[in-house]
Amino acid sequence: MFQSNVIGFSYFNNQNRKYKRLAEKFWQGLINETELRKGFSEIREENWLLQKKEQVDLISSNDFSPYDRMLDHVCLLGCLPERFKKLQKKLNLSELEVYYAMARGESSEQVNAMELTKWFDTNYHYIVPELSKEQTFQIGSNKIFEEFAEAKALGINTKPSLIGPVTFLMLSKESEGSKDFSCLELLDRLTEVYAQILNKLSEQGAELIQLEEPCLVLDLDEAQKSAYRNFQELLQKKLDPNFKAKIILTTYFEEISPENFELICKKESSKNLWEILHIDLVSSENSSEYLKRISEGVSAVGKKLSLGVINGRNIWINDLKKTIALIEQSQLEPEQLILGTSCSLLHVPLDLETENKLEPELKSWMAFAKQKLEELRLLQGSLRKNLGDAEQALLEKNTEAISKRKKSSLIYREQVESRGKKVTPANRKRETDFKSRQKLQKELFALPIFPTTTIGSFPQTPEVRQFRSKYKKGEISEQAYDQFLRAEIEKVISYQEKIGMDVLVHGEFERNDMVEYFGQYLTGFTTSENGWVQSYGTRGVKPPVIYGDIERISDMSVKYTEYAQSLTRKKVKGMLTGPVTILQWSFVRDDQPRSQTADQIALAILDEVQALEKAGIKIIQIDEPAYREGLPLKREKRAKYLKWATEAFRLSSSQVADSTQIHTHMCYSEFNDIIEQIAEMDADVITIETSRSDMELLEAFVDFKYPNEIGPGIYDVHSKNVPPVERIKSLIEKSCEFLPKENIWVNPDCGLKTRGWEETKSSLENMVAAAVQLRAGS
Ligand code: GLN
Ligand code: ZN
Repeated sequence: MFQSNVIGFSYFNNQNRKYKRLAEKFWQGLINETELRKGFSEIREENWLLQKKEQVDLISSNDFSPYDRMLDHVCLLGCLPERFKKLQKKLNLSELEVYYAMARGESSEQVNAMELTKWFDTNYHYIVPELSKEQTFQIGSNKIFEEFAEAKALGINTKPSLIGPVTFLMLSKESEGSKDFSCLELLDRLTEVYAQILNKLSEQGAELIQLEEPCLVLDLDEAQKSAYRNFQELLQKKLDPNFKAKIILTTYFEEISPENFELICKKESSKNLWEILHIDLVSSENSSEYLKRISEGVSAVGKKLSLGVINGRNIWINDLKKTIALIEQSQLEPEQLILGTSCSLLHVPLDLETENKLEPELKSWMAFAKQKLEELRLLQGSLRKNLGDAEQALLEKNTEAISKRKKSSLIYREQVESRGKKVTPANRKRETDFKSRQKLQKELFALPIFPTTTIGSFPQTPEVRQFRSKYKKGEISEQAYDQFLRAEIEKVISYQEKIGMDVLVHGEFERNDMVEYFGQYLTGFTTSENGWVQSYGTRGVKPPVIYGDIERISDMSVKYTEYAQSLTRKKVKGMLTGPVTILQWSFVRDDQPRSQTADQIALAILDEVQALEKAGIKIIQIDEPAYREGLPLKREKRAKYLKWATEAFRLSSSQVADSTQIHTHMCYSEFNDIIEQIAEMDADVITIETSRSDMELLEAFVDFKYPNEIGPGIYDVHSKNVPPVERIKSLIEKSCEFLPKENIWVNPDCGLKTRGWEETKSSLENMVAAAVQLRAGS
């Protein structure tokens, strides 16, 4: 009873990012495939043994991936896109080489990589499978079987984990040229192969198989519902009569709605493919209600329930006593209950013990993946009523840390609370309407039509990075670093002047990251030393931690912006990161609503906005690239989110003079569904990404006229290609079909920090030339 279940483990940071080092060395040709495989196998072994040591009962295999699990799955199902099959033949590539070609593209043959996109509402990105109408499937990789055998050799009978068929199809896209069909139509064909995989795993001795169907928590349309209605039956029909393994149907990130639950929980017990259902109780707003509802359903069919009670997406310790009380509410028998992580631990860092600089009190409130295993063990022991003395003491320690956290002086700052209470609706509203502001700003700034600008950062050359890292390590003095930055700013200002850019920027050379940089100047913020989590492939992020009330400690950007402005008579645009993005890209405190934390950040940003204004900066950009990411998975929750997110942005940007021009920037193109809320943000100017979709996004404006000024990015900074003048001109002209001319800005679609100087120069010069030519003609 009360077995423990880990949905997936964190492998990105084993032995200080050995994973990254290995893969990147392999790509550079510094190690061979055997060495890579051996290294990866050591990471898996270490993780399995660690989970075994922590007495996890249900340990996953196939949760490790050389790049991405969805891509692994494409290989397992033998559905590689045609261009890679051809490539493999032509260059005689090994399985692993073609795997990495799909992930990263192949430059000698100019084969494009597969698309990356966000995994639900996390900051992890997966590879999007491409399927065609004629798609066939067959077992194409042995990874899942090999890893099961590998763990078995270590004495661990793991539960192989794999993405389920409906989720796989829902997250795939129709390959180019394959029109008039939807991936879901492939369900029948696909199920055949799933059955083969499940049969084979059962034959190999797998007792449990984790079939992940996270799409089951989304709002489903009719076709998707019917896929869910059918897949269990389809699959069951194909299973061997002596199929012995039990299936854990696994969901996470949201509740399964009553409607969706009906799709997978048939009244007749034998019609359900699964023996155990895993649910995420952490993401649920009312977990005891949710538990009650699902328990009833599961109990009616005599199956088991796995409760995701340990948060796989945040880094705070679990309130163990509270969780125990919650679990005890379930009507199910202890034999029917399993305790688990809410989702894979991929989304949290590995080990808190390697953090040596955190304030001890703060550290006592935190748990990374390894510590979460211990929590699971304590929960289990406590529910089984067989906790040893040492464990009892740990449980008490947990209770104490939870209660101390509730009133800690590390968290609470009275002035923040009282300032928050004083916020009125008027504080979130510009004094004057946009039209009047626009008139005033046009007169004051006297910018030409189609004004040109950039999004903020200029190339971060190896030299810039070296200086910053030397400064951080204490190898060069603050003065030397400051001098270096000023020299860089001088260069970039004079360059922008030379090419005739209209609104200039200082280049952001002092920033490594757009959230961490501001975090340094805010209370209630900290950063870890080793808290890496995978973003995609070998790219990791180290999200800052917001643990307490937020206040601006000092000026954050004034010095260098002011310096840049002193060098030119043109306007220099101040650059800040907005409250929603700071929130979205951090581990956020869980003891107050996100909206309240967003407001606290907003007030701190407002202080900076006003400081910039005081220093004579007339144009201020508040970036919100993560605004859309925050959108809840369930439609019914979206309006509420959009409301508070917009309000937080407005709190950071409204209390300024009419003559101060506020810009914002967002870099994605799926915008149509939230365009009205974006307009509600009431920034004077918004710059967005459109170039990749060839201005398709502008179609959003056919139905809804974006009221304020807008800079649809006219070239893609993610590509090395230099956009020709004619193309830029035609994109601007196209924008004019949708938007009033006097509202249009001309700019790249994102910051230039990852670009080299050479292509940046050519691109910007073409961009300015295009604007100048159009002006002359208009
Ligand atoms: N101002 C930032 C930059 O130019 C914006 C980055 C972003 O949108 N992600 O780098
Ligand atoms: Zn951007």
